Amino acid sequence: MANKFKATLVSWADIDRWCGNISRKVQASFDVDTIIGIARGGLVPARILSDRLWVKDLLSVKTEHWGITATKDGEAVLKTKINMDLSGKNVLVVDDITDTGESMSLAYDYVKSLKPRELRSATMLHISRSKFVPDYYSELITEKNWAWFIFPWNVYEDLNNLIRKSFTDRINADEVVDALKEDYDLDVSSLNMEEILNDFVVFGRMKKEGRDFVIVQ
Ligand code: AMP
Repeated sequence: MANKFKATLVSWADIDRWCGNISRKVQASFDVDTIIGIARGGLVPARILSDRLWVKDLLSVKTEHWGITATKDGEAVLKTKINMDLSGKNVLVVDDITDTGESMSLAYDYVKSLKPRELRSATMLHISRSKFVPDYYSELITEKNWAWFIFPWNVYEDLNNLIRKSFTDRINADEVVDALKEDYDLDVSSLNMEEILNDFVVFGRMKKEGRDFVIVQ
């Protein structure tokens, strides 16, 4: 494999803990009226925070930055806007992770231009190299510990991409599990790989031949 990098499977228990940490920090210091989740990665954390912080005004903006898993598309781009008056509102912008920080920076500046009363930002994970430092985060990740974090809402997309980086042809579920460990130090023992690969077949990503799965290019 040309580009080796580490990938880590994130559990729902991690999400629960990280969002809990953020919500308690926010609750102690900021009276939030409106939450804006950055789609797609920030949608679930934003929804959980809207529950934990008792905030019913939940909106979203969409940014695009990373295309294929762990590969950047270029500059972060704002894809959707907000159609709501934020004047007089305390707004919290939420994403899953600030890695380069470009997506959060872009979304933050855009929301700022809508002139809320006060604007703050939160992510579950914050990589130390990020050019944007959120007001609230749960975990600080040093650059040395950088990994591609496979969030529970992105498992199929990420596995599909990682498998294609490791294989070009024919595989079975056991080989996939071994290769993910070998190439990305990724432990997928909590997943049912056979079932996932069968789901890839349903969506035309792979074809099944006996016990083998053949990657559709
Ligand atoms: P960035 O603009 O680099 O801060 O990241 C934009 C988005 O890409 C994040 O909100 C995530 O959804 C995704 N992303 C970036 N880096 C990672 C990573 N190391 N692990 C998982 N997702 C990531």
